Formats: sequence, C-alpha cells, structure tokens
Amino acid sequence: MLSVDAAIDLIIARALPVGACERVSLMEADGRVLCEDLAARFPLPPFANSAVDGYAVRFSDLVPDQLTSLPVLGRVEAGAGAQALEIGAAARVFTGAPMPPGADTVFMQEDVTLEGDHVILPSGLKRGANMRPAGEDIEADQIALRKGARLRPQDVAFAAALGAHELNVAQRLRVGVFSTGNELAAPGTERSGAQIYDSNRFMLLAMLRRLGCAPHDLGVLRDDTAHLAGALKAAAGEHDLLLTSGGVSTGEADYVKSALEQIGSLTFWRMAIKPGRPVAMGVIDGTPFVGLPGNPVASFVTFAYVVRPLALALMGADVARFQPLPVRAAFSYKKKAGRREFVRVSLMPGADGVLEARKFPREGAGLLSSLTQSDGLVELREDVTRVEPGQSVGFLGYAALD
Ligand code: AMP
Ligand code: MG
Repeated sequence: MLSVDAAIDLIIARALPVGACERVSLMEADGRVLCEDLAARFPLPPFANSAVDGYAVRFSDLVPDQLTSLPVLGRVEAGAGAQALEIGAAARVFTGAPMPPGADTVFMQEDVTLEGDHVILPSGLKRGANMRPAGEDIEADQIALRKGARLRPQDVAFAAALGAHELNVAQRLRVGVFSTGNELAAPGTERSGAQIYDSNRFMLLAMLRRLGCAPHDLGVLRDDTAHLAGALKAAAGEHDLLLTSGGVSTGEADYVKSALEQIGSLTFWRMAIKPGRPVAMGVIDGTPFVGLPGNPVASFVTFAYVVRPLALALMGADVARFQPLPVRAAFSYKKKAGRREFVRVSLMPGADGVLEARKFPREGAGLLSSLTQSDGLVELREDVTRVEPGQSVGFLGYAALD
C-alpha cells in the first residue's frame, strides 16, 4: 500500500504538463494557470504620488522642532500633471496625485491649519512621510507573477495594474468523469427500489470546475469489465484525464481495476488513506486515469489528495502540499498507525475563545451529511494512533481544497 506522500511524489514525478496554452482576457483569468512569467514592464506605482489628501513640501524647507508657515502655491489632483514645487512653498495635493517635482513629504490635511494663503505645518513629521515612491510595489523588470501560479483575484489585479489585458494560461484540462454501478440512477429519472441516485459525478464535476478544468460528464457505466474497458478506451483519446468513481473495491467487484489492466497500465491501486483506501491510478493510451472509491466521502478525500495534485501537475501548476492549520481537538479518536486518516469536523470557539475542532458524530464514508454539516477535515498523519481532547491537530478547511 502506498502512503499519501509517496503517491503525491509519484504523481509530481510522472505527470508532465499537457503544455497547450492560450491567451485569455483578464476577465477570464481567475483560477487559470499562468504559462509564462509576467514581468513588470514599468515600476508600480509608475510615479511618486501622495498617499493622502494634504500638502506636499520639501522637507528641507521645514523649521526643525517648530511650526512652519509656507505659502500654498499649486494644486494637484489625481490624474493631473504636477508642476515643480517652488522652493519655500507647499502644494495642495490629493490621494494618488503625482508628487510635484522637488516635494518629498506630505502633511495630512487633518494635521495642518490654514491662515489666508499660508499653511501652518506642525513639527515632527519624517522626510518622505505620506508619499508613495515609484516602484514601491514592484520595480521595473521584476517578476510579478510566476509561471505555474494559479491566478487569484489579487493576481489578476496585479496583472491589470501592470497594463496586461490578456494572459497566457494553460488550456483548460479536459477531464472525463464516469460513475460506475448498476445501482445508480440519474437524478431526474425514476429510481427503482434497490437504486440510489448518483451523487459522486456531480460532486466531482463541480470540484473539477473549481480547479479550473473543463469537466465532461460521461454518465454512468454498468458493473461489467468489458463495458468499462470499452468506454474508458474510447474516452481516453478525447481527454487529458479520466476519472471514475466506484467499482474499485478490494473484493470481486473491482471491475474498474480489471478493466484498467485490460486496456492500460496500473500505477497503483491501494493507498494508505482512510476514508478512501482503494483508489486506482493508471494510464490508458497515454491518458492518466484515476479510479476513485464509490463512497462519497472517500471519493471527496481522494479527489483532494490524488486528483487535485495530478490535475494541477497536468496543467503545469505548482503543486503545493496542503498546510493544515493547528486547532484544538475537542474529541478523542483512535486510529491505526501507518495510514493517513481524515476526521470531519466543525470549528467552534471553546470556552476560552480558542478555535476547537468538534468531530461530526457519525463516521460512515457514505454520509454526505458529514460533509455538508462540517467545516473541514482534521488530517491525522501516519504516526498518530490517538487523539485526546485538548491536543493540537491539523485542520484543513474545505475552501483550502479548491
Ligand atoms: P463501490 O466501490 O462501487 O463498491 O461503491 C461503494 C459504495 O459507494 C456503494 O454503497 C455504492 O452504492 C456507493 N456509490 C458508488 N458510486 C456512487 C455514486 N456515483 N454516487 C453515490 N454513491 C455511490
Ligand atoms: Mg459499485
């Protein structure tokens, strides 16, 4: 059985970026993976400007430790050009307005008094106060955004501030998603007595969309090795990644593993992870394949730990490991050493205000309510065998898995 870390190492080592890039407008760039570094062509801010509404002066015109009275000559608003500041004078300036050449310090309007056409300035301000030098944010030619970054709204804003209106990003990964199982009915259709509605497909399609992929719904496959093998082989040519859920049990019902062995190669099929242990990974005609477990919670967790890093690697994105945040356990728990286990928890402040993780009361890997009524996962690493209330544990909020 492969450890979670060994599986991720294997994925990072083997999964090569698909490599196709496209230019998209900034409007479409959120969540996409940058294909090349974006360098600043000019400094940000491009020119020194005032950080406040107030009065710009030359620091050398101020009388040390005393009030200084200077005539107000000139006025610069944001977006307007600035004339040089005369020696021995102040200029009225507004937030974002260029600093008049020669001025190096700005007094906030709240800190001064006006007497006729003079402004009375208090002592105690430092040279350079309340002004933003050119290049304070980024200097020209520095890398603003790195190749492999998954763009967030703040990254899109940085690109916009640097004047980019299109970015070169990885094409959306085409991911085909099947469900498997004779018991599955599609929502919206009649369900017979022994059937359940297929939920995994909708969860996986939504998770893929959040990752910036182009997911394709390929429907439900029957529990039949030949049928599965045929459908997977046909889909491999049209996709960058294929996913199934269900049919990877360790018993006789492992149709997915047998199908994969017929038409492709199996990389691994058992991972030391709970929930989720049977998860098959392989390659079909050059297209990576992951067979996720059928139980919805197992499918959810193994998506985060196997499909997510694989999809990111195929997109050419940086694959950062999750960094669980320390919180206090408000539960006790026993586990076997040697496998990674995930406990569904809600976060609530304890009596002293410190955040506590409360365990969802039931443990079944089929309980969708355990995911909808909790905030995230406590990750218990391989060496942990028990958790006691009060102990610090690592928490991963569901949003961190996007
Ligand atoms: P399996 O791995 O196929 O034996 O499935 C394990 C459990 O997950 C069974 O109870 C299945 O009915 C359930 N399951 C499998 N696929 C799905 C699905 N797409 N949606 C909801 N439950 C599923
Ligand atoms: Mg099944």
